[in-house]
Amino acid sequence: MDLNDSILLVNKRIRNLSPYHLEPEVTAVKLNQNENPYDLPAGIKEEIAEFCRKRPFNRYPNFVPDDLKAALAGYSGVPAEGIIVGNGSNEMLLVLLLALSGQGGNVILCQPTFTVYGLLATGLGAIERTVPLTGGLAFDVSRICETAERFPRSLMVLCSPNNPTGCFLTEADIRAILAVHTGMLVLDQAYVEFGGYSAIPLLTSNPNLIITRTFSKAFSGAGLRLGYMLGTPDMVAHINKIKLPYNINFFSEHVAQVLLGHLDVVAARVKELAARRDSLLSFLRTMPLDAVFDSAANFMIFSCGRKNELFAFLKQKGILVRDVSHYPMLENCLRVNVGSADETAVFEEAVRDFFKVRAA
Ligand SMILES: *Cc1c(COP(=O)(O)O)cnc(C)c1O
Repeated sequence: MDLNDSILLVNKRIRNLSPYHLEPEVTAVKLNQNENPYDLPAGIKEEIAEFCRKRPFNRYPNFVPDDLKAALAGYSGVPAEGIIVGNGSNEMLLVLLLALSGQGGNVILCQPTFTVYGLLATGLGAIERTVPLTGGLAFDVSRICETAERFPRSLMVLCSPNNPTGCFLTEADIRAILAVHTGMLVLDQAYVEFGGYSAIPLLTSNPNLIITRTFSKAFSGAGLRLGYMLGTPDMVAHINKIKLPYNINFFSEHVAQVLLGHLDVVAARVKELAARRDSLLSFLRTMPLDAVFDSAANFMIFSCGRKNELFAFLKQKGILVRDVSHYPMLENCLRVNVGSADETAVFEEAVRDFFKVRAA
């Protein structure tokens, strides 16, 4: 069979998608993926290595990771029956879209936001109903509510704090949306440990709310691929049917449990990174940039008329940030995440250098 002919066998919706792509670049100062700059302490890694040495690799992981779910229940306050653990919260998003959206269904998204939602929705044949952020890149809650009313029973996916902008929804915002929305609301809170409102208290009275979280950011676990969803047990039981069996490997399951036993380490890092985010925001506001946008996460965006030049200048100094200018409304924007104290100092020095501003 001819190659072009075989390619035509791929679902047309998928053929027409542009892939989610990231150049695998490695630089000395890597501030482009919102990762936690701190690896796990060596002592914790030793504990994990010991576990792995003893664990038979020929055996499947637990069918249900009960101990991890119990630990997550203790941490989140959501009963274990309301929790599904996944291979990254991205897997949870896939499972949620499979269960909650479908061909011809409406999926309400704000833009700009995390690319994966639109990619999955379009791939599954759903129709994206877009609510733009405001000109100041905040959530437009009244427009979100209007759209919910216009498309009853649709799936809504919101990200708070939002990637790539850093804006977030307050408790009042989420309550206002839930008051009018008659479909499911999936709330991606991958960055909520760094700031913004945790919607967990709203779960008990809103069975149409599901929250996704991750070990990839606050928990220093991007390499694990571990995320989870929180919801009402009866709802979660249905969603769980479409999840692949054994989606969590024993290593990630174990490491996540170990991390939940060291919440003091995690909390101290989160506190430090949130404080550094605020000082980095203040620093950027002293630079001759066009705009610096507030953020509740461990990253922020800023716009600069000389964006390409600045990106290249930083890269040539071994500093990698994310060019987010291809997102709607983010023309000229770069995103930088909070690194270690040293990395952040190197970044600030380079930005000063670029604008030839002397250190204060
Ligand atoms: C980083 C990130 C995640 C985390 O995804 P994982 O699959 O858990 O690594 C989820 N949502 C958003 C918006 C993110 O930026």
